[in-house]
Amino acid sequence: KKSLPRCSGCGTQLQTEKKNNLGYIPESVALRLLSKDNQTTNHHHHVDQNQKDEKDLKEYFNDFKSKFNKNDDEIQICQRCHLLKNHGKISSVNVPVENFRQQLEQLKHMNCVIIKVVDLMDFSGSFVEDFRDVVGNNPVILVANKLDLLPRDIKHQRVEEWIRTKAKEKGLLSIAHVKLLSSTNREGMQSFIIDLEKMRRGRDVFIVGCSNVGKSTFLNSLLEEYKNKVEIKREDTMLESSTPLNRKQLKDIDKMKHTQGPISKATTSVFPGTTLNLVSFPLWDNSNLFDTPGIDSPHQMIKLLNMEELKKLIPKEKVKPTVIHMSSGKTLFLGGLVRIDFEGPISTFTVYVSNKLPVHTTSLRKADDLLHNQHGKLLSPPILPESPTQQERDAHLDRFHFSQIQNFSLVPEKIDFEHTFVDLVISGVGWVSIKCISKKVTPLRLTVHTPSKIDVSIRRPPL
Ligand code: GDP
Repeated sequence: KKSLPRCSGCGTQLQTEKKNNLGYIPESVALRLLSKDNQTTNHHHHVDQNQKDEKDLKEYFNDFKSKFNKNDDEIQICQRCHLLKNHGKISSVNVPVENFRQQLEQLKHMNCVIIKVVDLMDFSGSFVEDFRDVVGNNPVILVANKLDLLPRDIKHQRVEEWIRTKAKEKGLLSIAHVKLLSSTNREGMQSFIIDLEKMRRGRDVFIVGCSNVGKSTFLNSLLEEYKNKVEIKREDTMLESSTPLNRKQLKDIDKMKHTQGPISKATTSVFPGTTLNLVSFPLWDNSNLFDTPGIDSPHQMIKLLNMEELKKLIPKEKVKPTVIHMSSGKTLFLGGLVRIDFEGPISTFTVYVSNKLPVHTTSLRKADDLLHNQHGKLLSPPILPESPTQQERDAHLDRFHFSQIQNFSLVPEKIDFEHTFVDLVISGVGWVSIKCISKKVTPLRLTVHTPSKIDVSIRRPPL
């Protein structure tokens, strides 16, 4: 078996195993590459088996050839570079957090601005700790993405304050701004650009973030905004200089709209002396915007679930809160992922989670049975197949770190507090606002059961 070459775009080792990792190319493309090296092998063998593969492959090469005018032998480019060059799209690739930290450590010796993107709905899960060692004294703009999901009744300023405090607790001290925005509906995007331009002062800008925080979506929107800005400027000058415009000038403007803009000049490369894959955009005259690979965070709920399950967990639309009255000895389930046992005076629980995640209450007495009988069914996600085999059932339990001895129980954690109003934040799931009805300060106890590694914390004051 021959090994694959390096990508001629970014220099990373090509591979066919992991779609979201660096250097990925489809198997069919790899086969073609390898058979180019060895003309004696029957290089159409595998490709011919699949018409669709063949078509993809042709497009892949033709696109590339037309842009770069290289001959077939020189074409060896990873999917990420391919998408960038030919379709002007940033796609996400991931690296483990250890490698990332190690490789980006050079940033602290540079004079740059860092944009750290986090997921507003999963702050803890998407925040890489020890980030201080990476950034040094460089200013950090914390972009809290997915603002569109935040319920209307939540004050943005409160969220900003909370994020700032949390980030400081986690050791990130050089926060210049906290910016709430939505990469999908672009709320907050323009004012973000204004802030960035004000503080940049000729420095390079690096974008970092965990996978799935929406870093690619953010970057694509950001570039789109910059592209519009650039175009507006150009059109203005043309209009000023000659009125009316002749046909050729109009055509030129039209051409510029389609070909110019930061993305058409973007290149991928490897950070000097490392294997860290960067995409650079020459946005400004003497400095660049750099996109770094997504960091694989071990604390994201996302790691435990499959696509079907994630569709239920990750909110796609504005979260609609659910209000529940709780008294001592009651248990609240958020799908099959979180169980909250409550002891204390009568309180209201306002649940802020995906509208698709089922919320159930029962008595503490019946909670074990309900979980035993309904885990993966009524209490889902996680989702169990209909009438699972023993093997499927075991795999299901393994996946959720169920303790061996006490079957069907998630890992419990006791949380005691005395405030009359707090938020219980469950990373990757959402939060529950707990408000004690009596004004008197009385002790409350929550026993929160979640899969291990999922961060649970109390937020005070609540949002
Ligand atoms: P990356 O891995 O960090 O590059 O993340 P992607 O850009 O691929 O986005 C991950 C998921 O989050 C996708 O399903 C996006 O549609 C979604 N997403 C990204 N930005 C936003 C946003 O501002 N709001 C919402 N609701 N979803 C977003």
